[in-house]
Amino acid sequence: MTAVAGAPKATRAPLYDAAKIRAQFPIIASPPGGRPLHYLDSAATSQKPQAVLDAMDAYYREANANIHRGAYGLAAESTARYEGARAKVAAFIGARSDREVVFTRGTTSAINLVAQAWGGAHLHAGDEIVVTAMEHHANLVPWQMVAQRTGAVIRGVGITEAGELDLDELRSVLSPKTKVLAITSLSNVLGTILPLGEIIPMAKAVGAHVLVDAAQSAAHMLTDVQSLGADWLVFSGHKLGGPTGIGVLWGRAEVLEATPPFEGGGGMIELVELTRSTYAPAPARFEAGTPPIAEAVGLGAAIDWVQGVGIEAIAAHEAQMLREIEEALDAIPGVTRHGHAEHRASVCSFSVADAHPHDIATILDEHGVAIRAGHHCAQPLMRHLKVPATARASVSPYTDASDVAALGAAIVRVRQIFG
Ligand code: PMP
Repeated sequence: MTAVAGAPKATRAPLYDAAKIRAQFPIIASPPGGRPLHYLDSAATSQKPQAVLDAMDAYYREANANIHRGAYGLAAESTARYEGARAKVAAFIGARSDREVVFTRGTTSAINLVAQAWGGAHLHAGDEIVVTAMEHHANLVPWQMVAQRTGAVIRGVGITEAGELDLDELRSVLSPKTKVLAITSLSNVLGTILPLGEIIPMAKAVGAHVLVDAAQSAAHMLTDVQSLGADWLVFSGHKLGGPTGIGVLWGRAEVLEATPPFEGGGGMIELVELTRSTYAPAPARFEAGTPPIAEAVGLGAAIDWVQGVGIEAIAAHEAQMLREIEEALDAIPGVTRHGHAEHRASVCSFSVADAHPHDIATILDEHGVAIRAGHHCAQPLMRHLKVPATARASVSPYTDASDVAALGAAIVRVRQIFG
């Protein structure tokens, strides 16, 4: 099962012990204030296992120093932990080399880096950037900004009734003018898993570069950048059990080498004179200034945690939880689910008749159920769905049957109030 090859198996992993998993997440095991917490908002940010908190704590206690420039033991240890995290990321996504992994602040800053630095150098007036109606604003606005700067043109591809990408429309939009396809691997609203194994070769056939926004898929599906065939893949640590403030830009070595720096400063140079400089090779070229060292270490620990449980086991458990949520919602009159793609994972958007999503989320909070309500940074998709906002529940390794039951009961309560 990979990010390019369809849905996770919808069978419960026989050895998956959700109680044991939950015990490893302090905020789930002992919710603040002793109130019940049914956390169904991991698509916005995931909770953190103790192992991640420990790794960051240990970093500050045992190894804190600035990286790369220090000649003393502590600096070497700090550098080793930071670079060790890079190696873990590279192995996690199947990169050919650590040098293809750039640490960023998150998905958003990774896409801005690619759009501004690569796009600023390689896009010209009339070139086309293809995006989809399912993209998060983070995979739209940076491209719009570079299009304005360069005269490139944005082309959008729509979606079908079921919430799948319209592949016929994609085929008709792609042309030799297409320089970039910027596409999500998993919709943060509809849960649609994009058939990237089919899509990327289509874009490659017209000579386009492809950026995959894996913000939603990285924690839920196996990622293998080599079989994927894209040029860039980006994701955030905080949706994967890691801390905020750290994300990943994977880029094919040749593409990174053909990209000028994004930010200038310490750490990204080879030689500096008063009036000009030469730049370090990737990834250092794209990591100006002191990076988020402890956060990288935390991300490395999160990857260890995910791999310790096994991403296939996580995916199978989450598929089961998602199916139970969908069944619970389908059993309540007045509830409409959005997103019926054949292959989907991890998120479930819905509306309840006569109730605004914000009211739904507020009532659910009174029952200890945390979901997200809003446009989910996907306003073009909301327009397509003809709704101002949706309610969204999302699953995680620590979701269990009690969360599903609490969600169902609270939605019944919403219906009683608004019905
Ligand atoms: N893309 C998608 C699909 C997302 O779901 C998100 C986060 N909601 C982002 C991009 C942006 O991620 P971040 O805010 O961590 O930069």
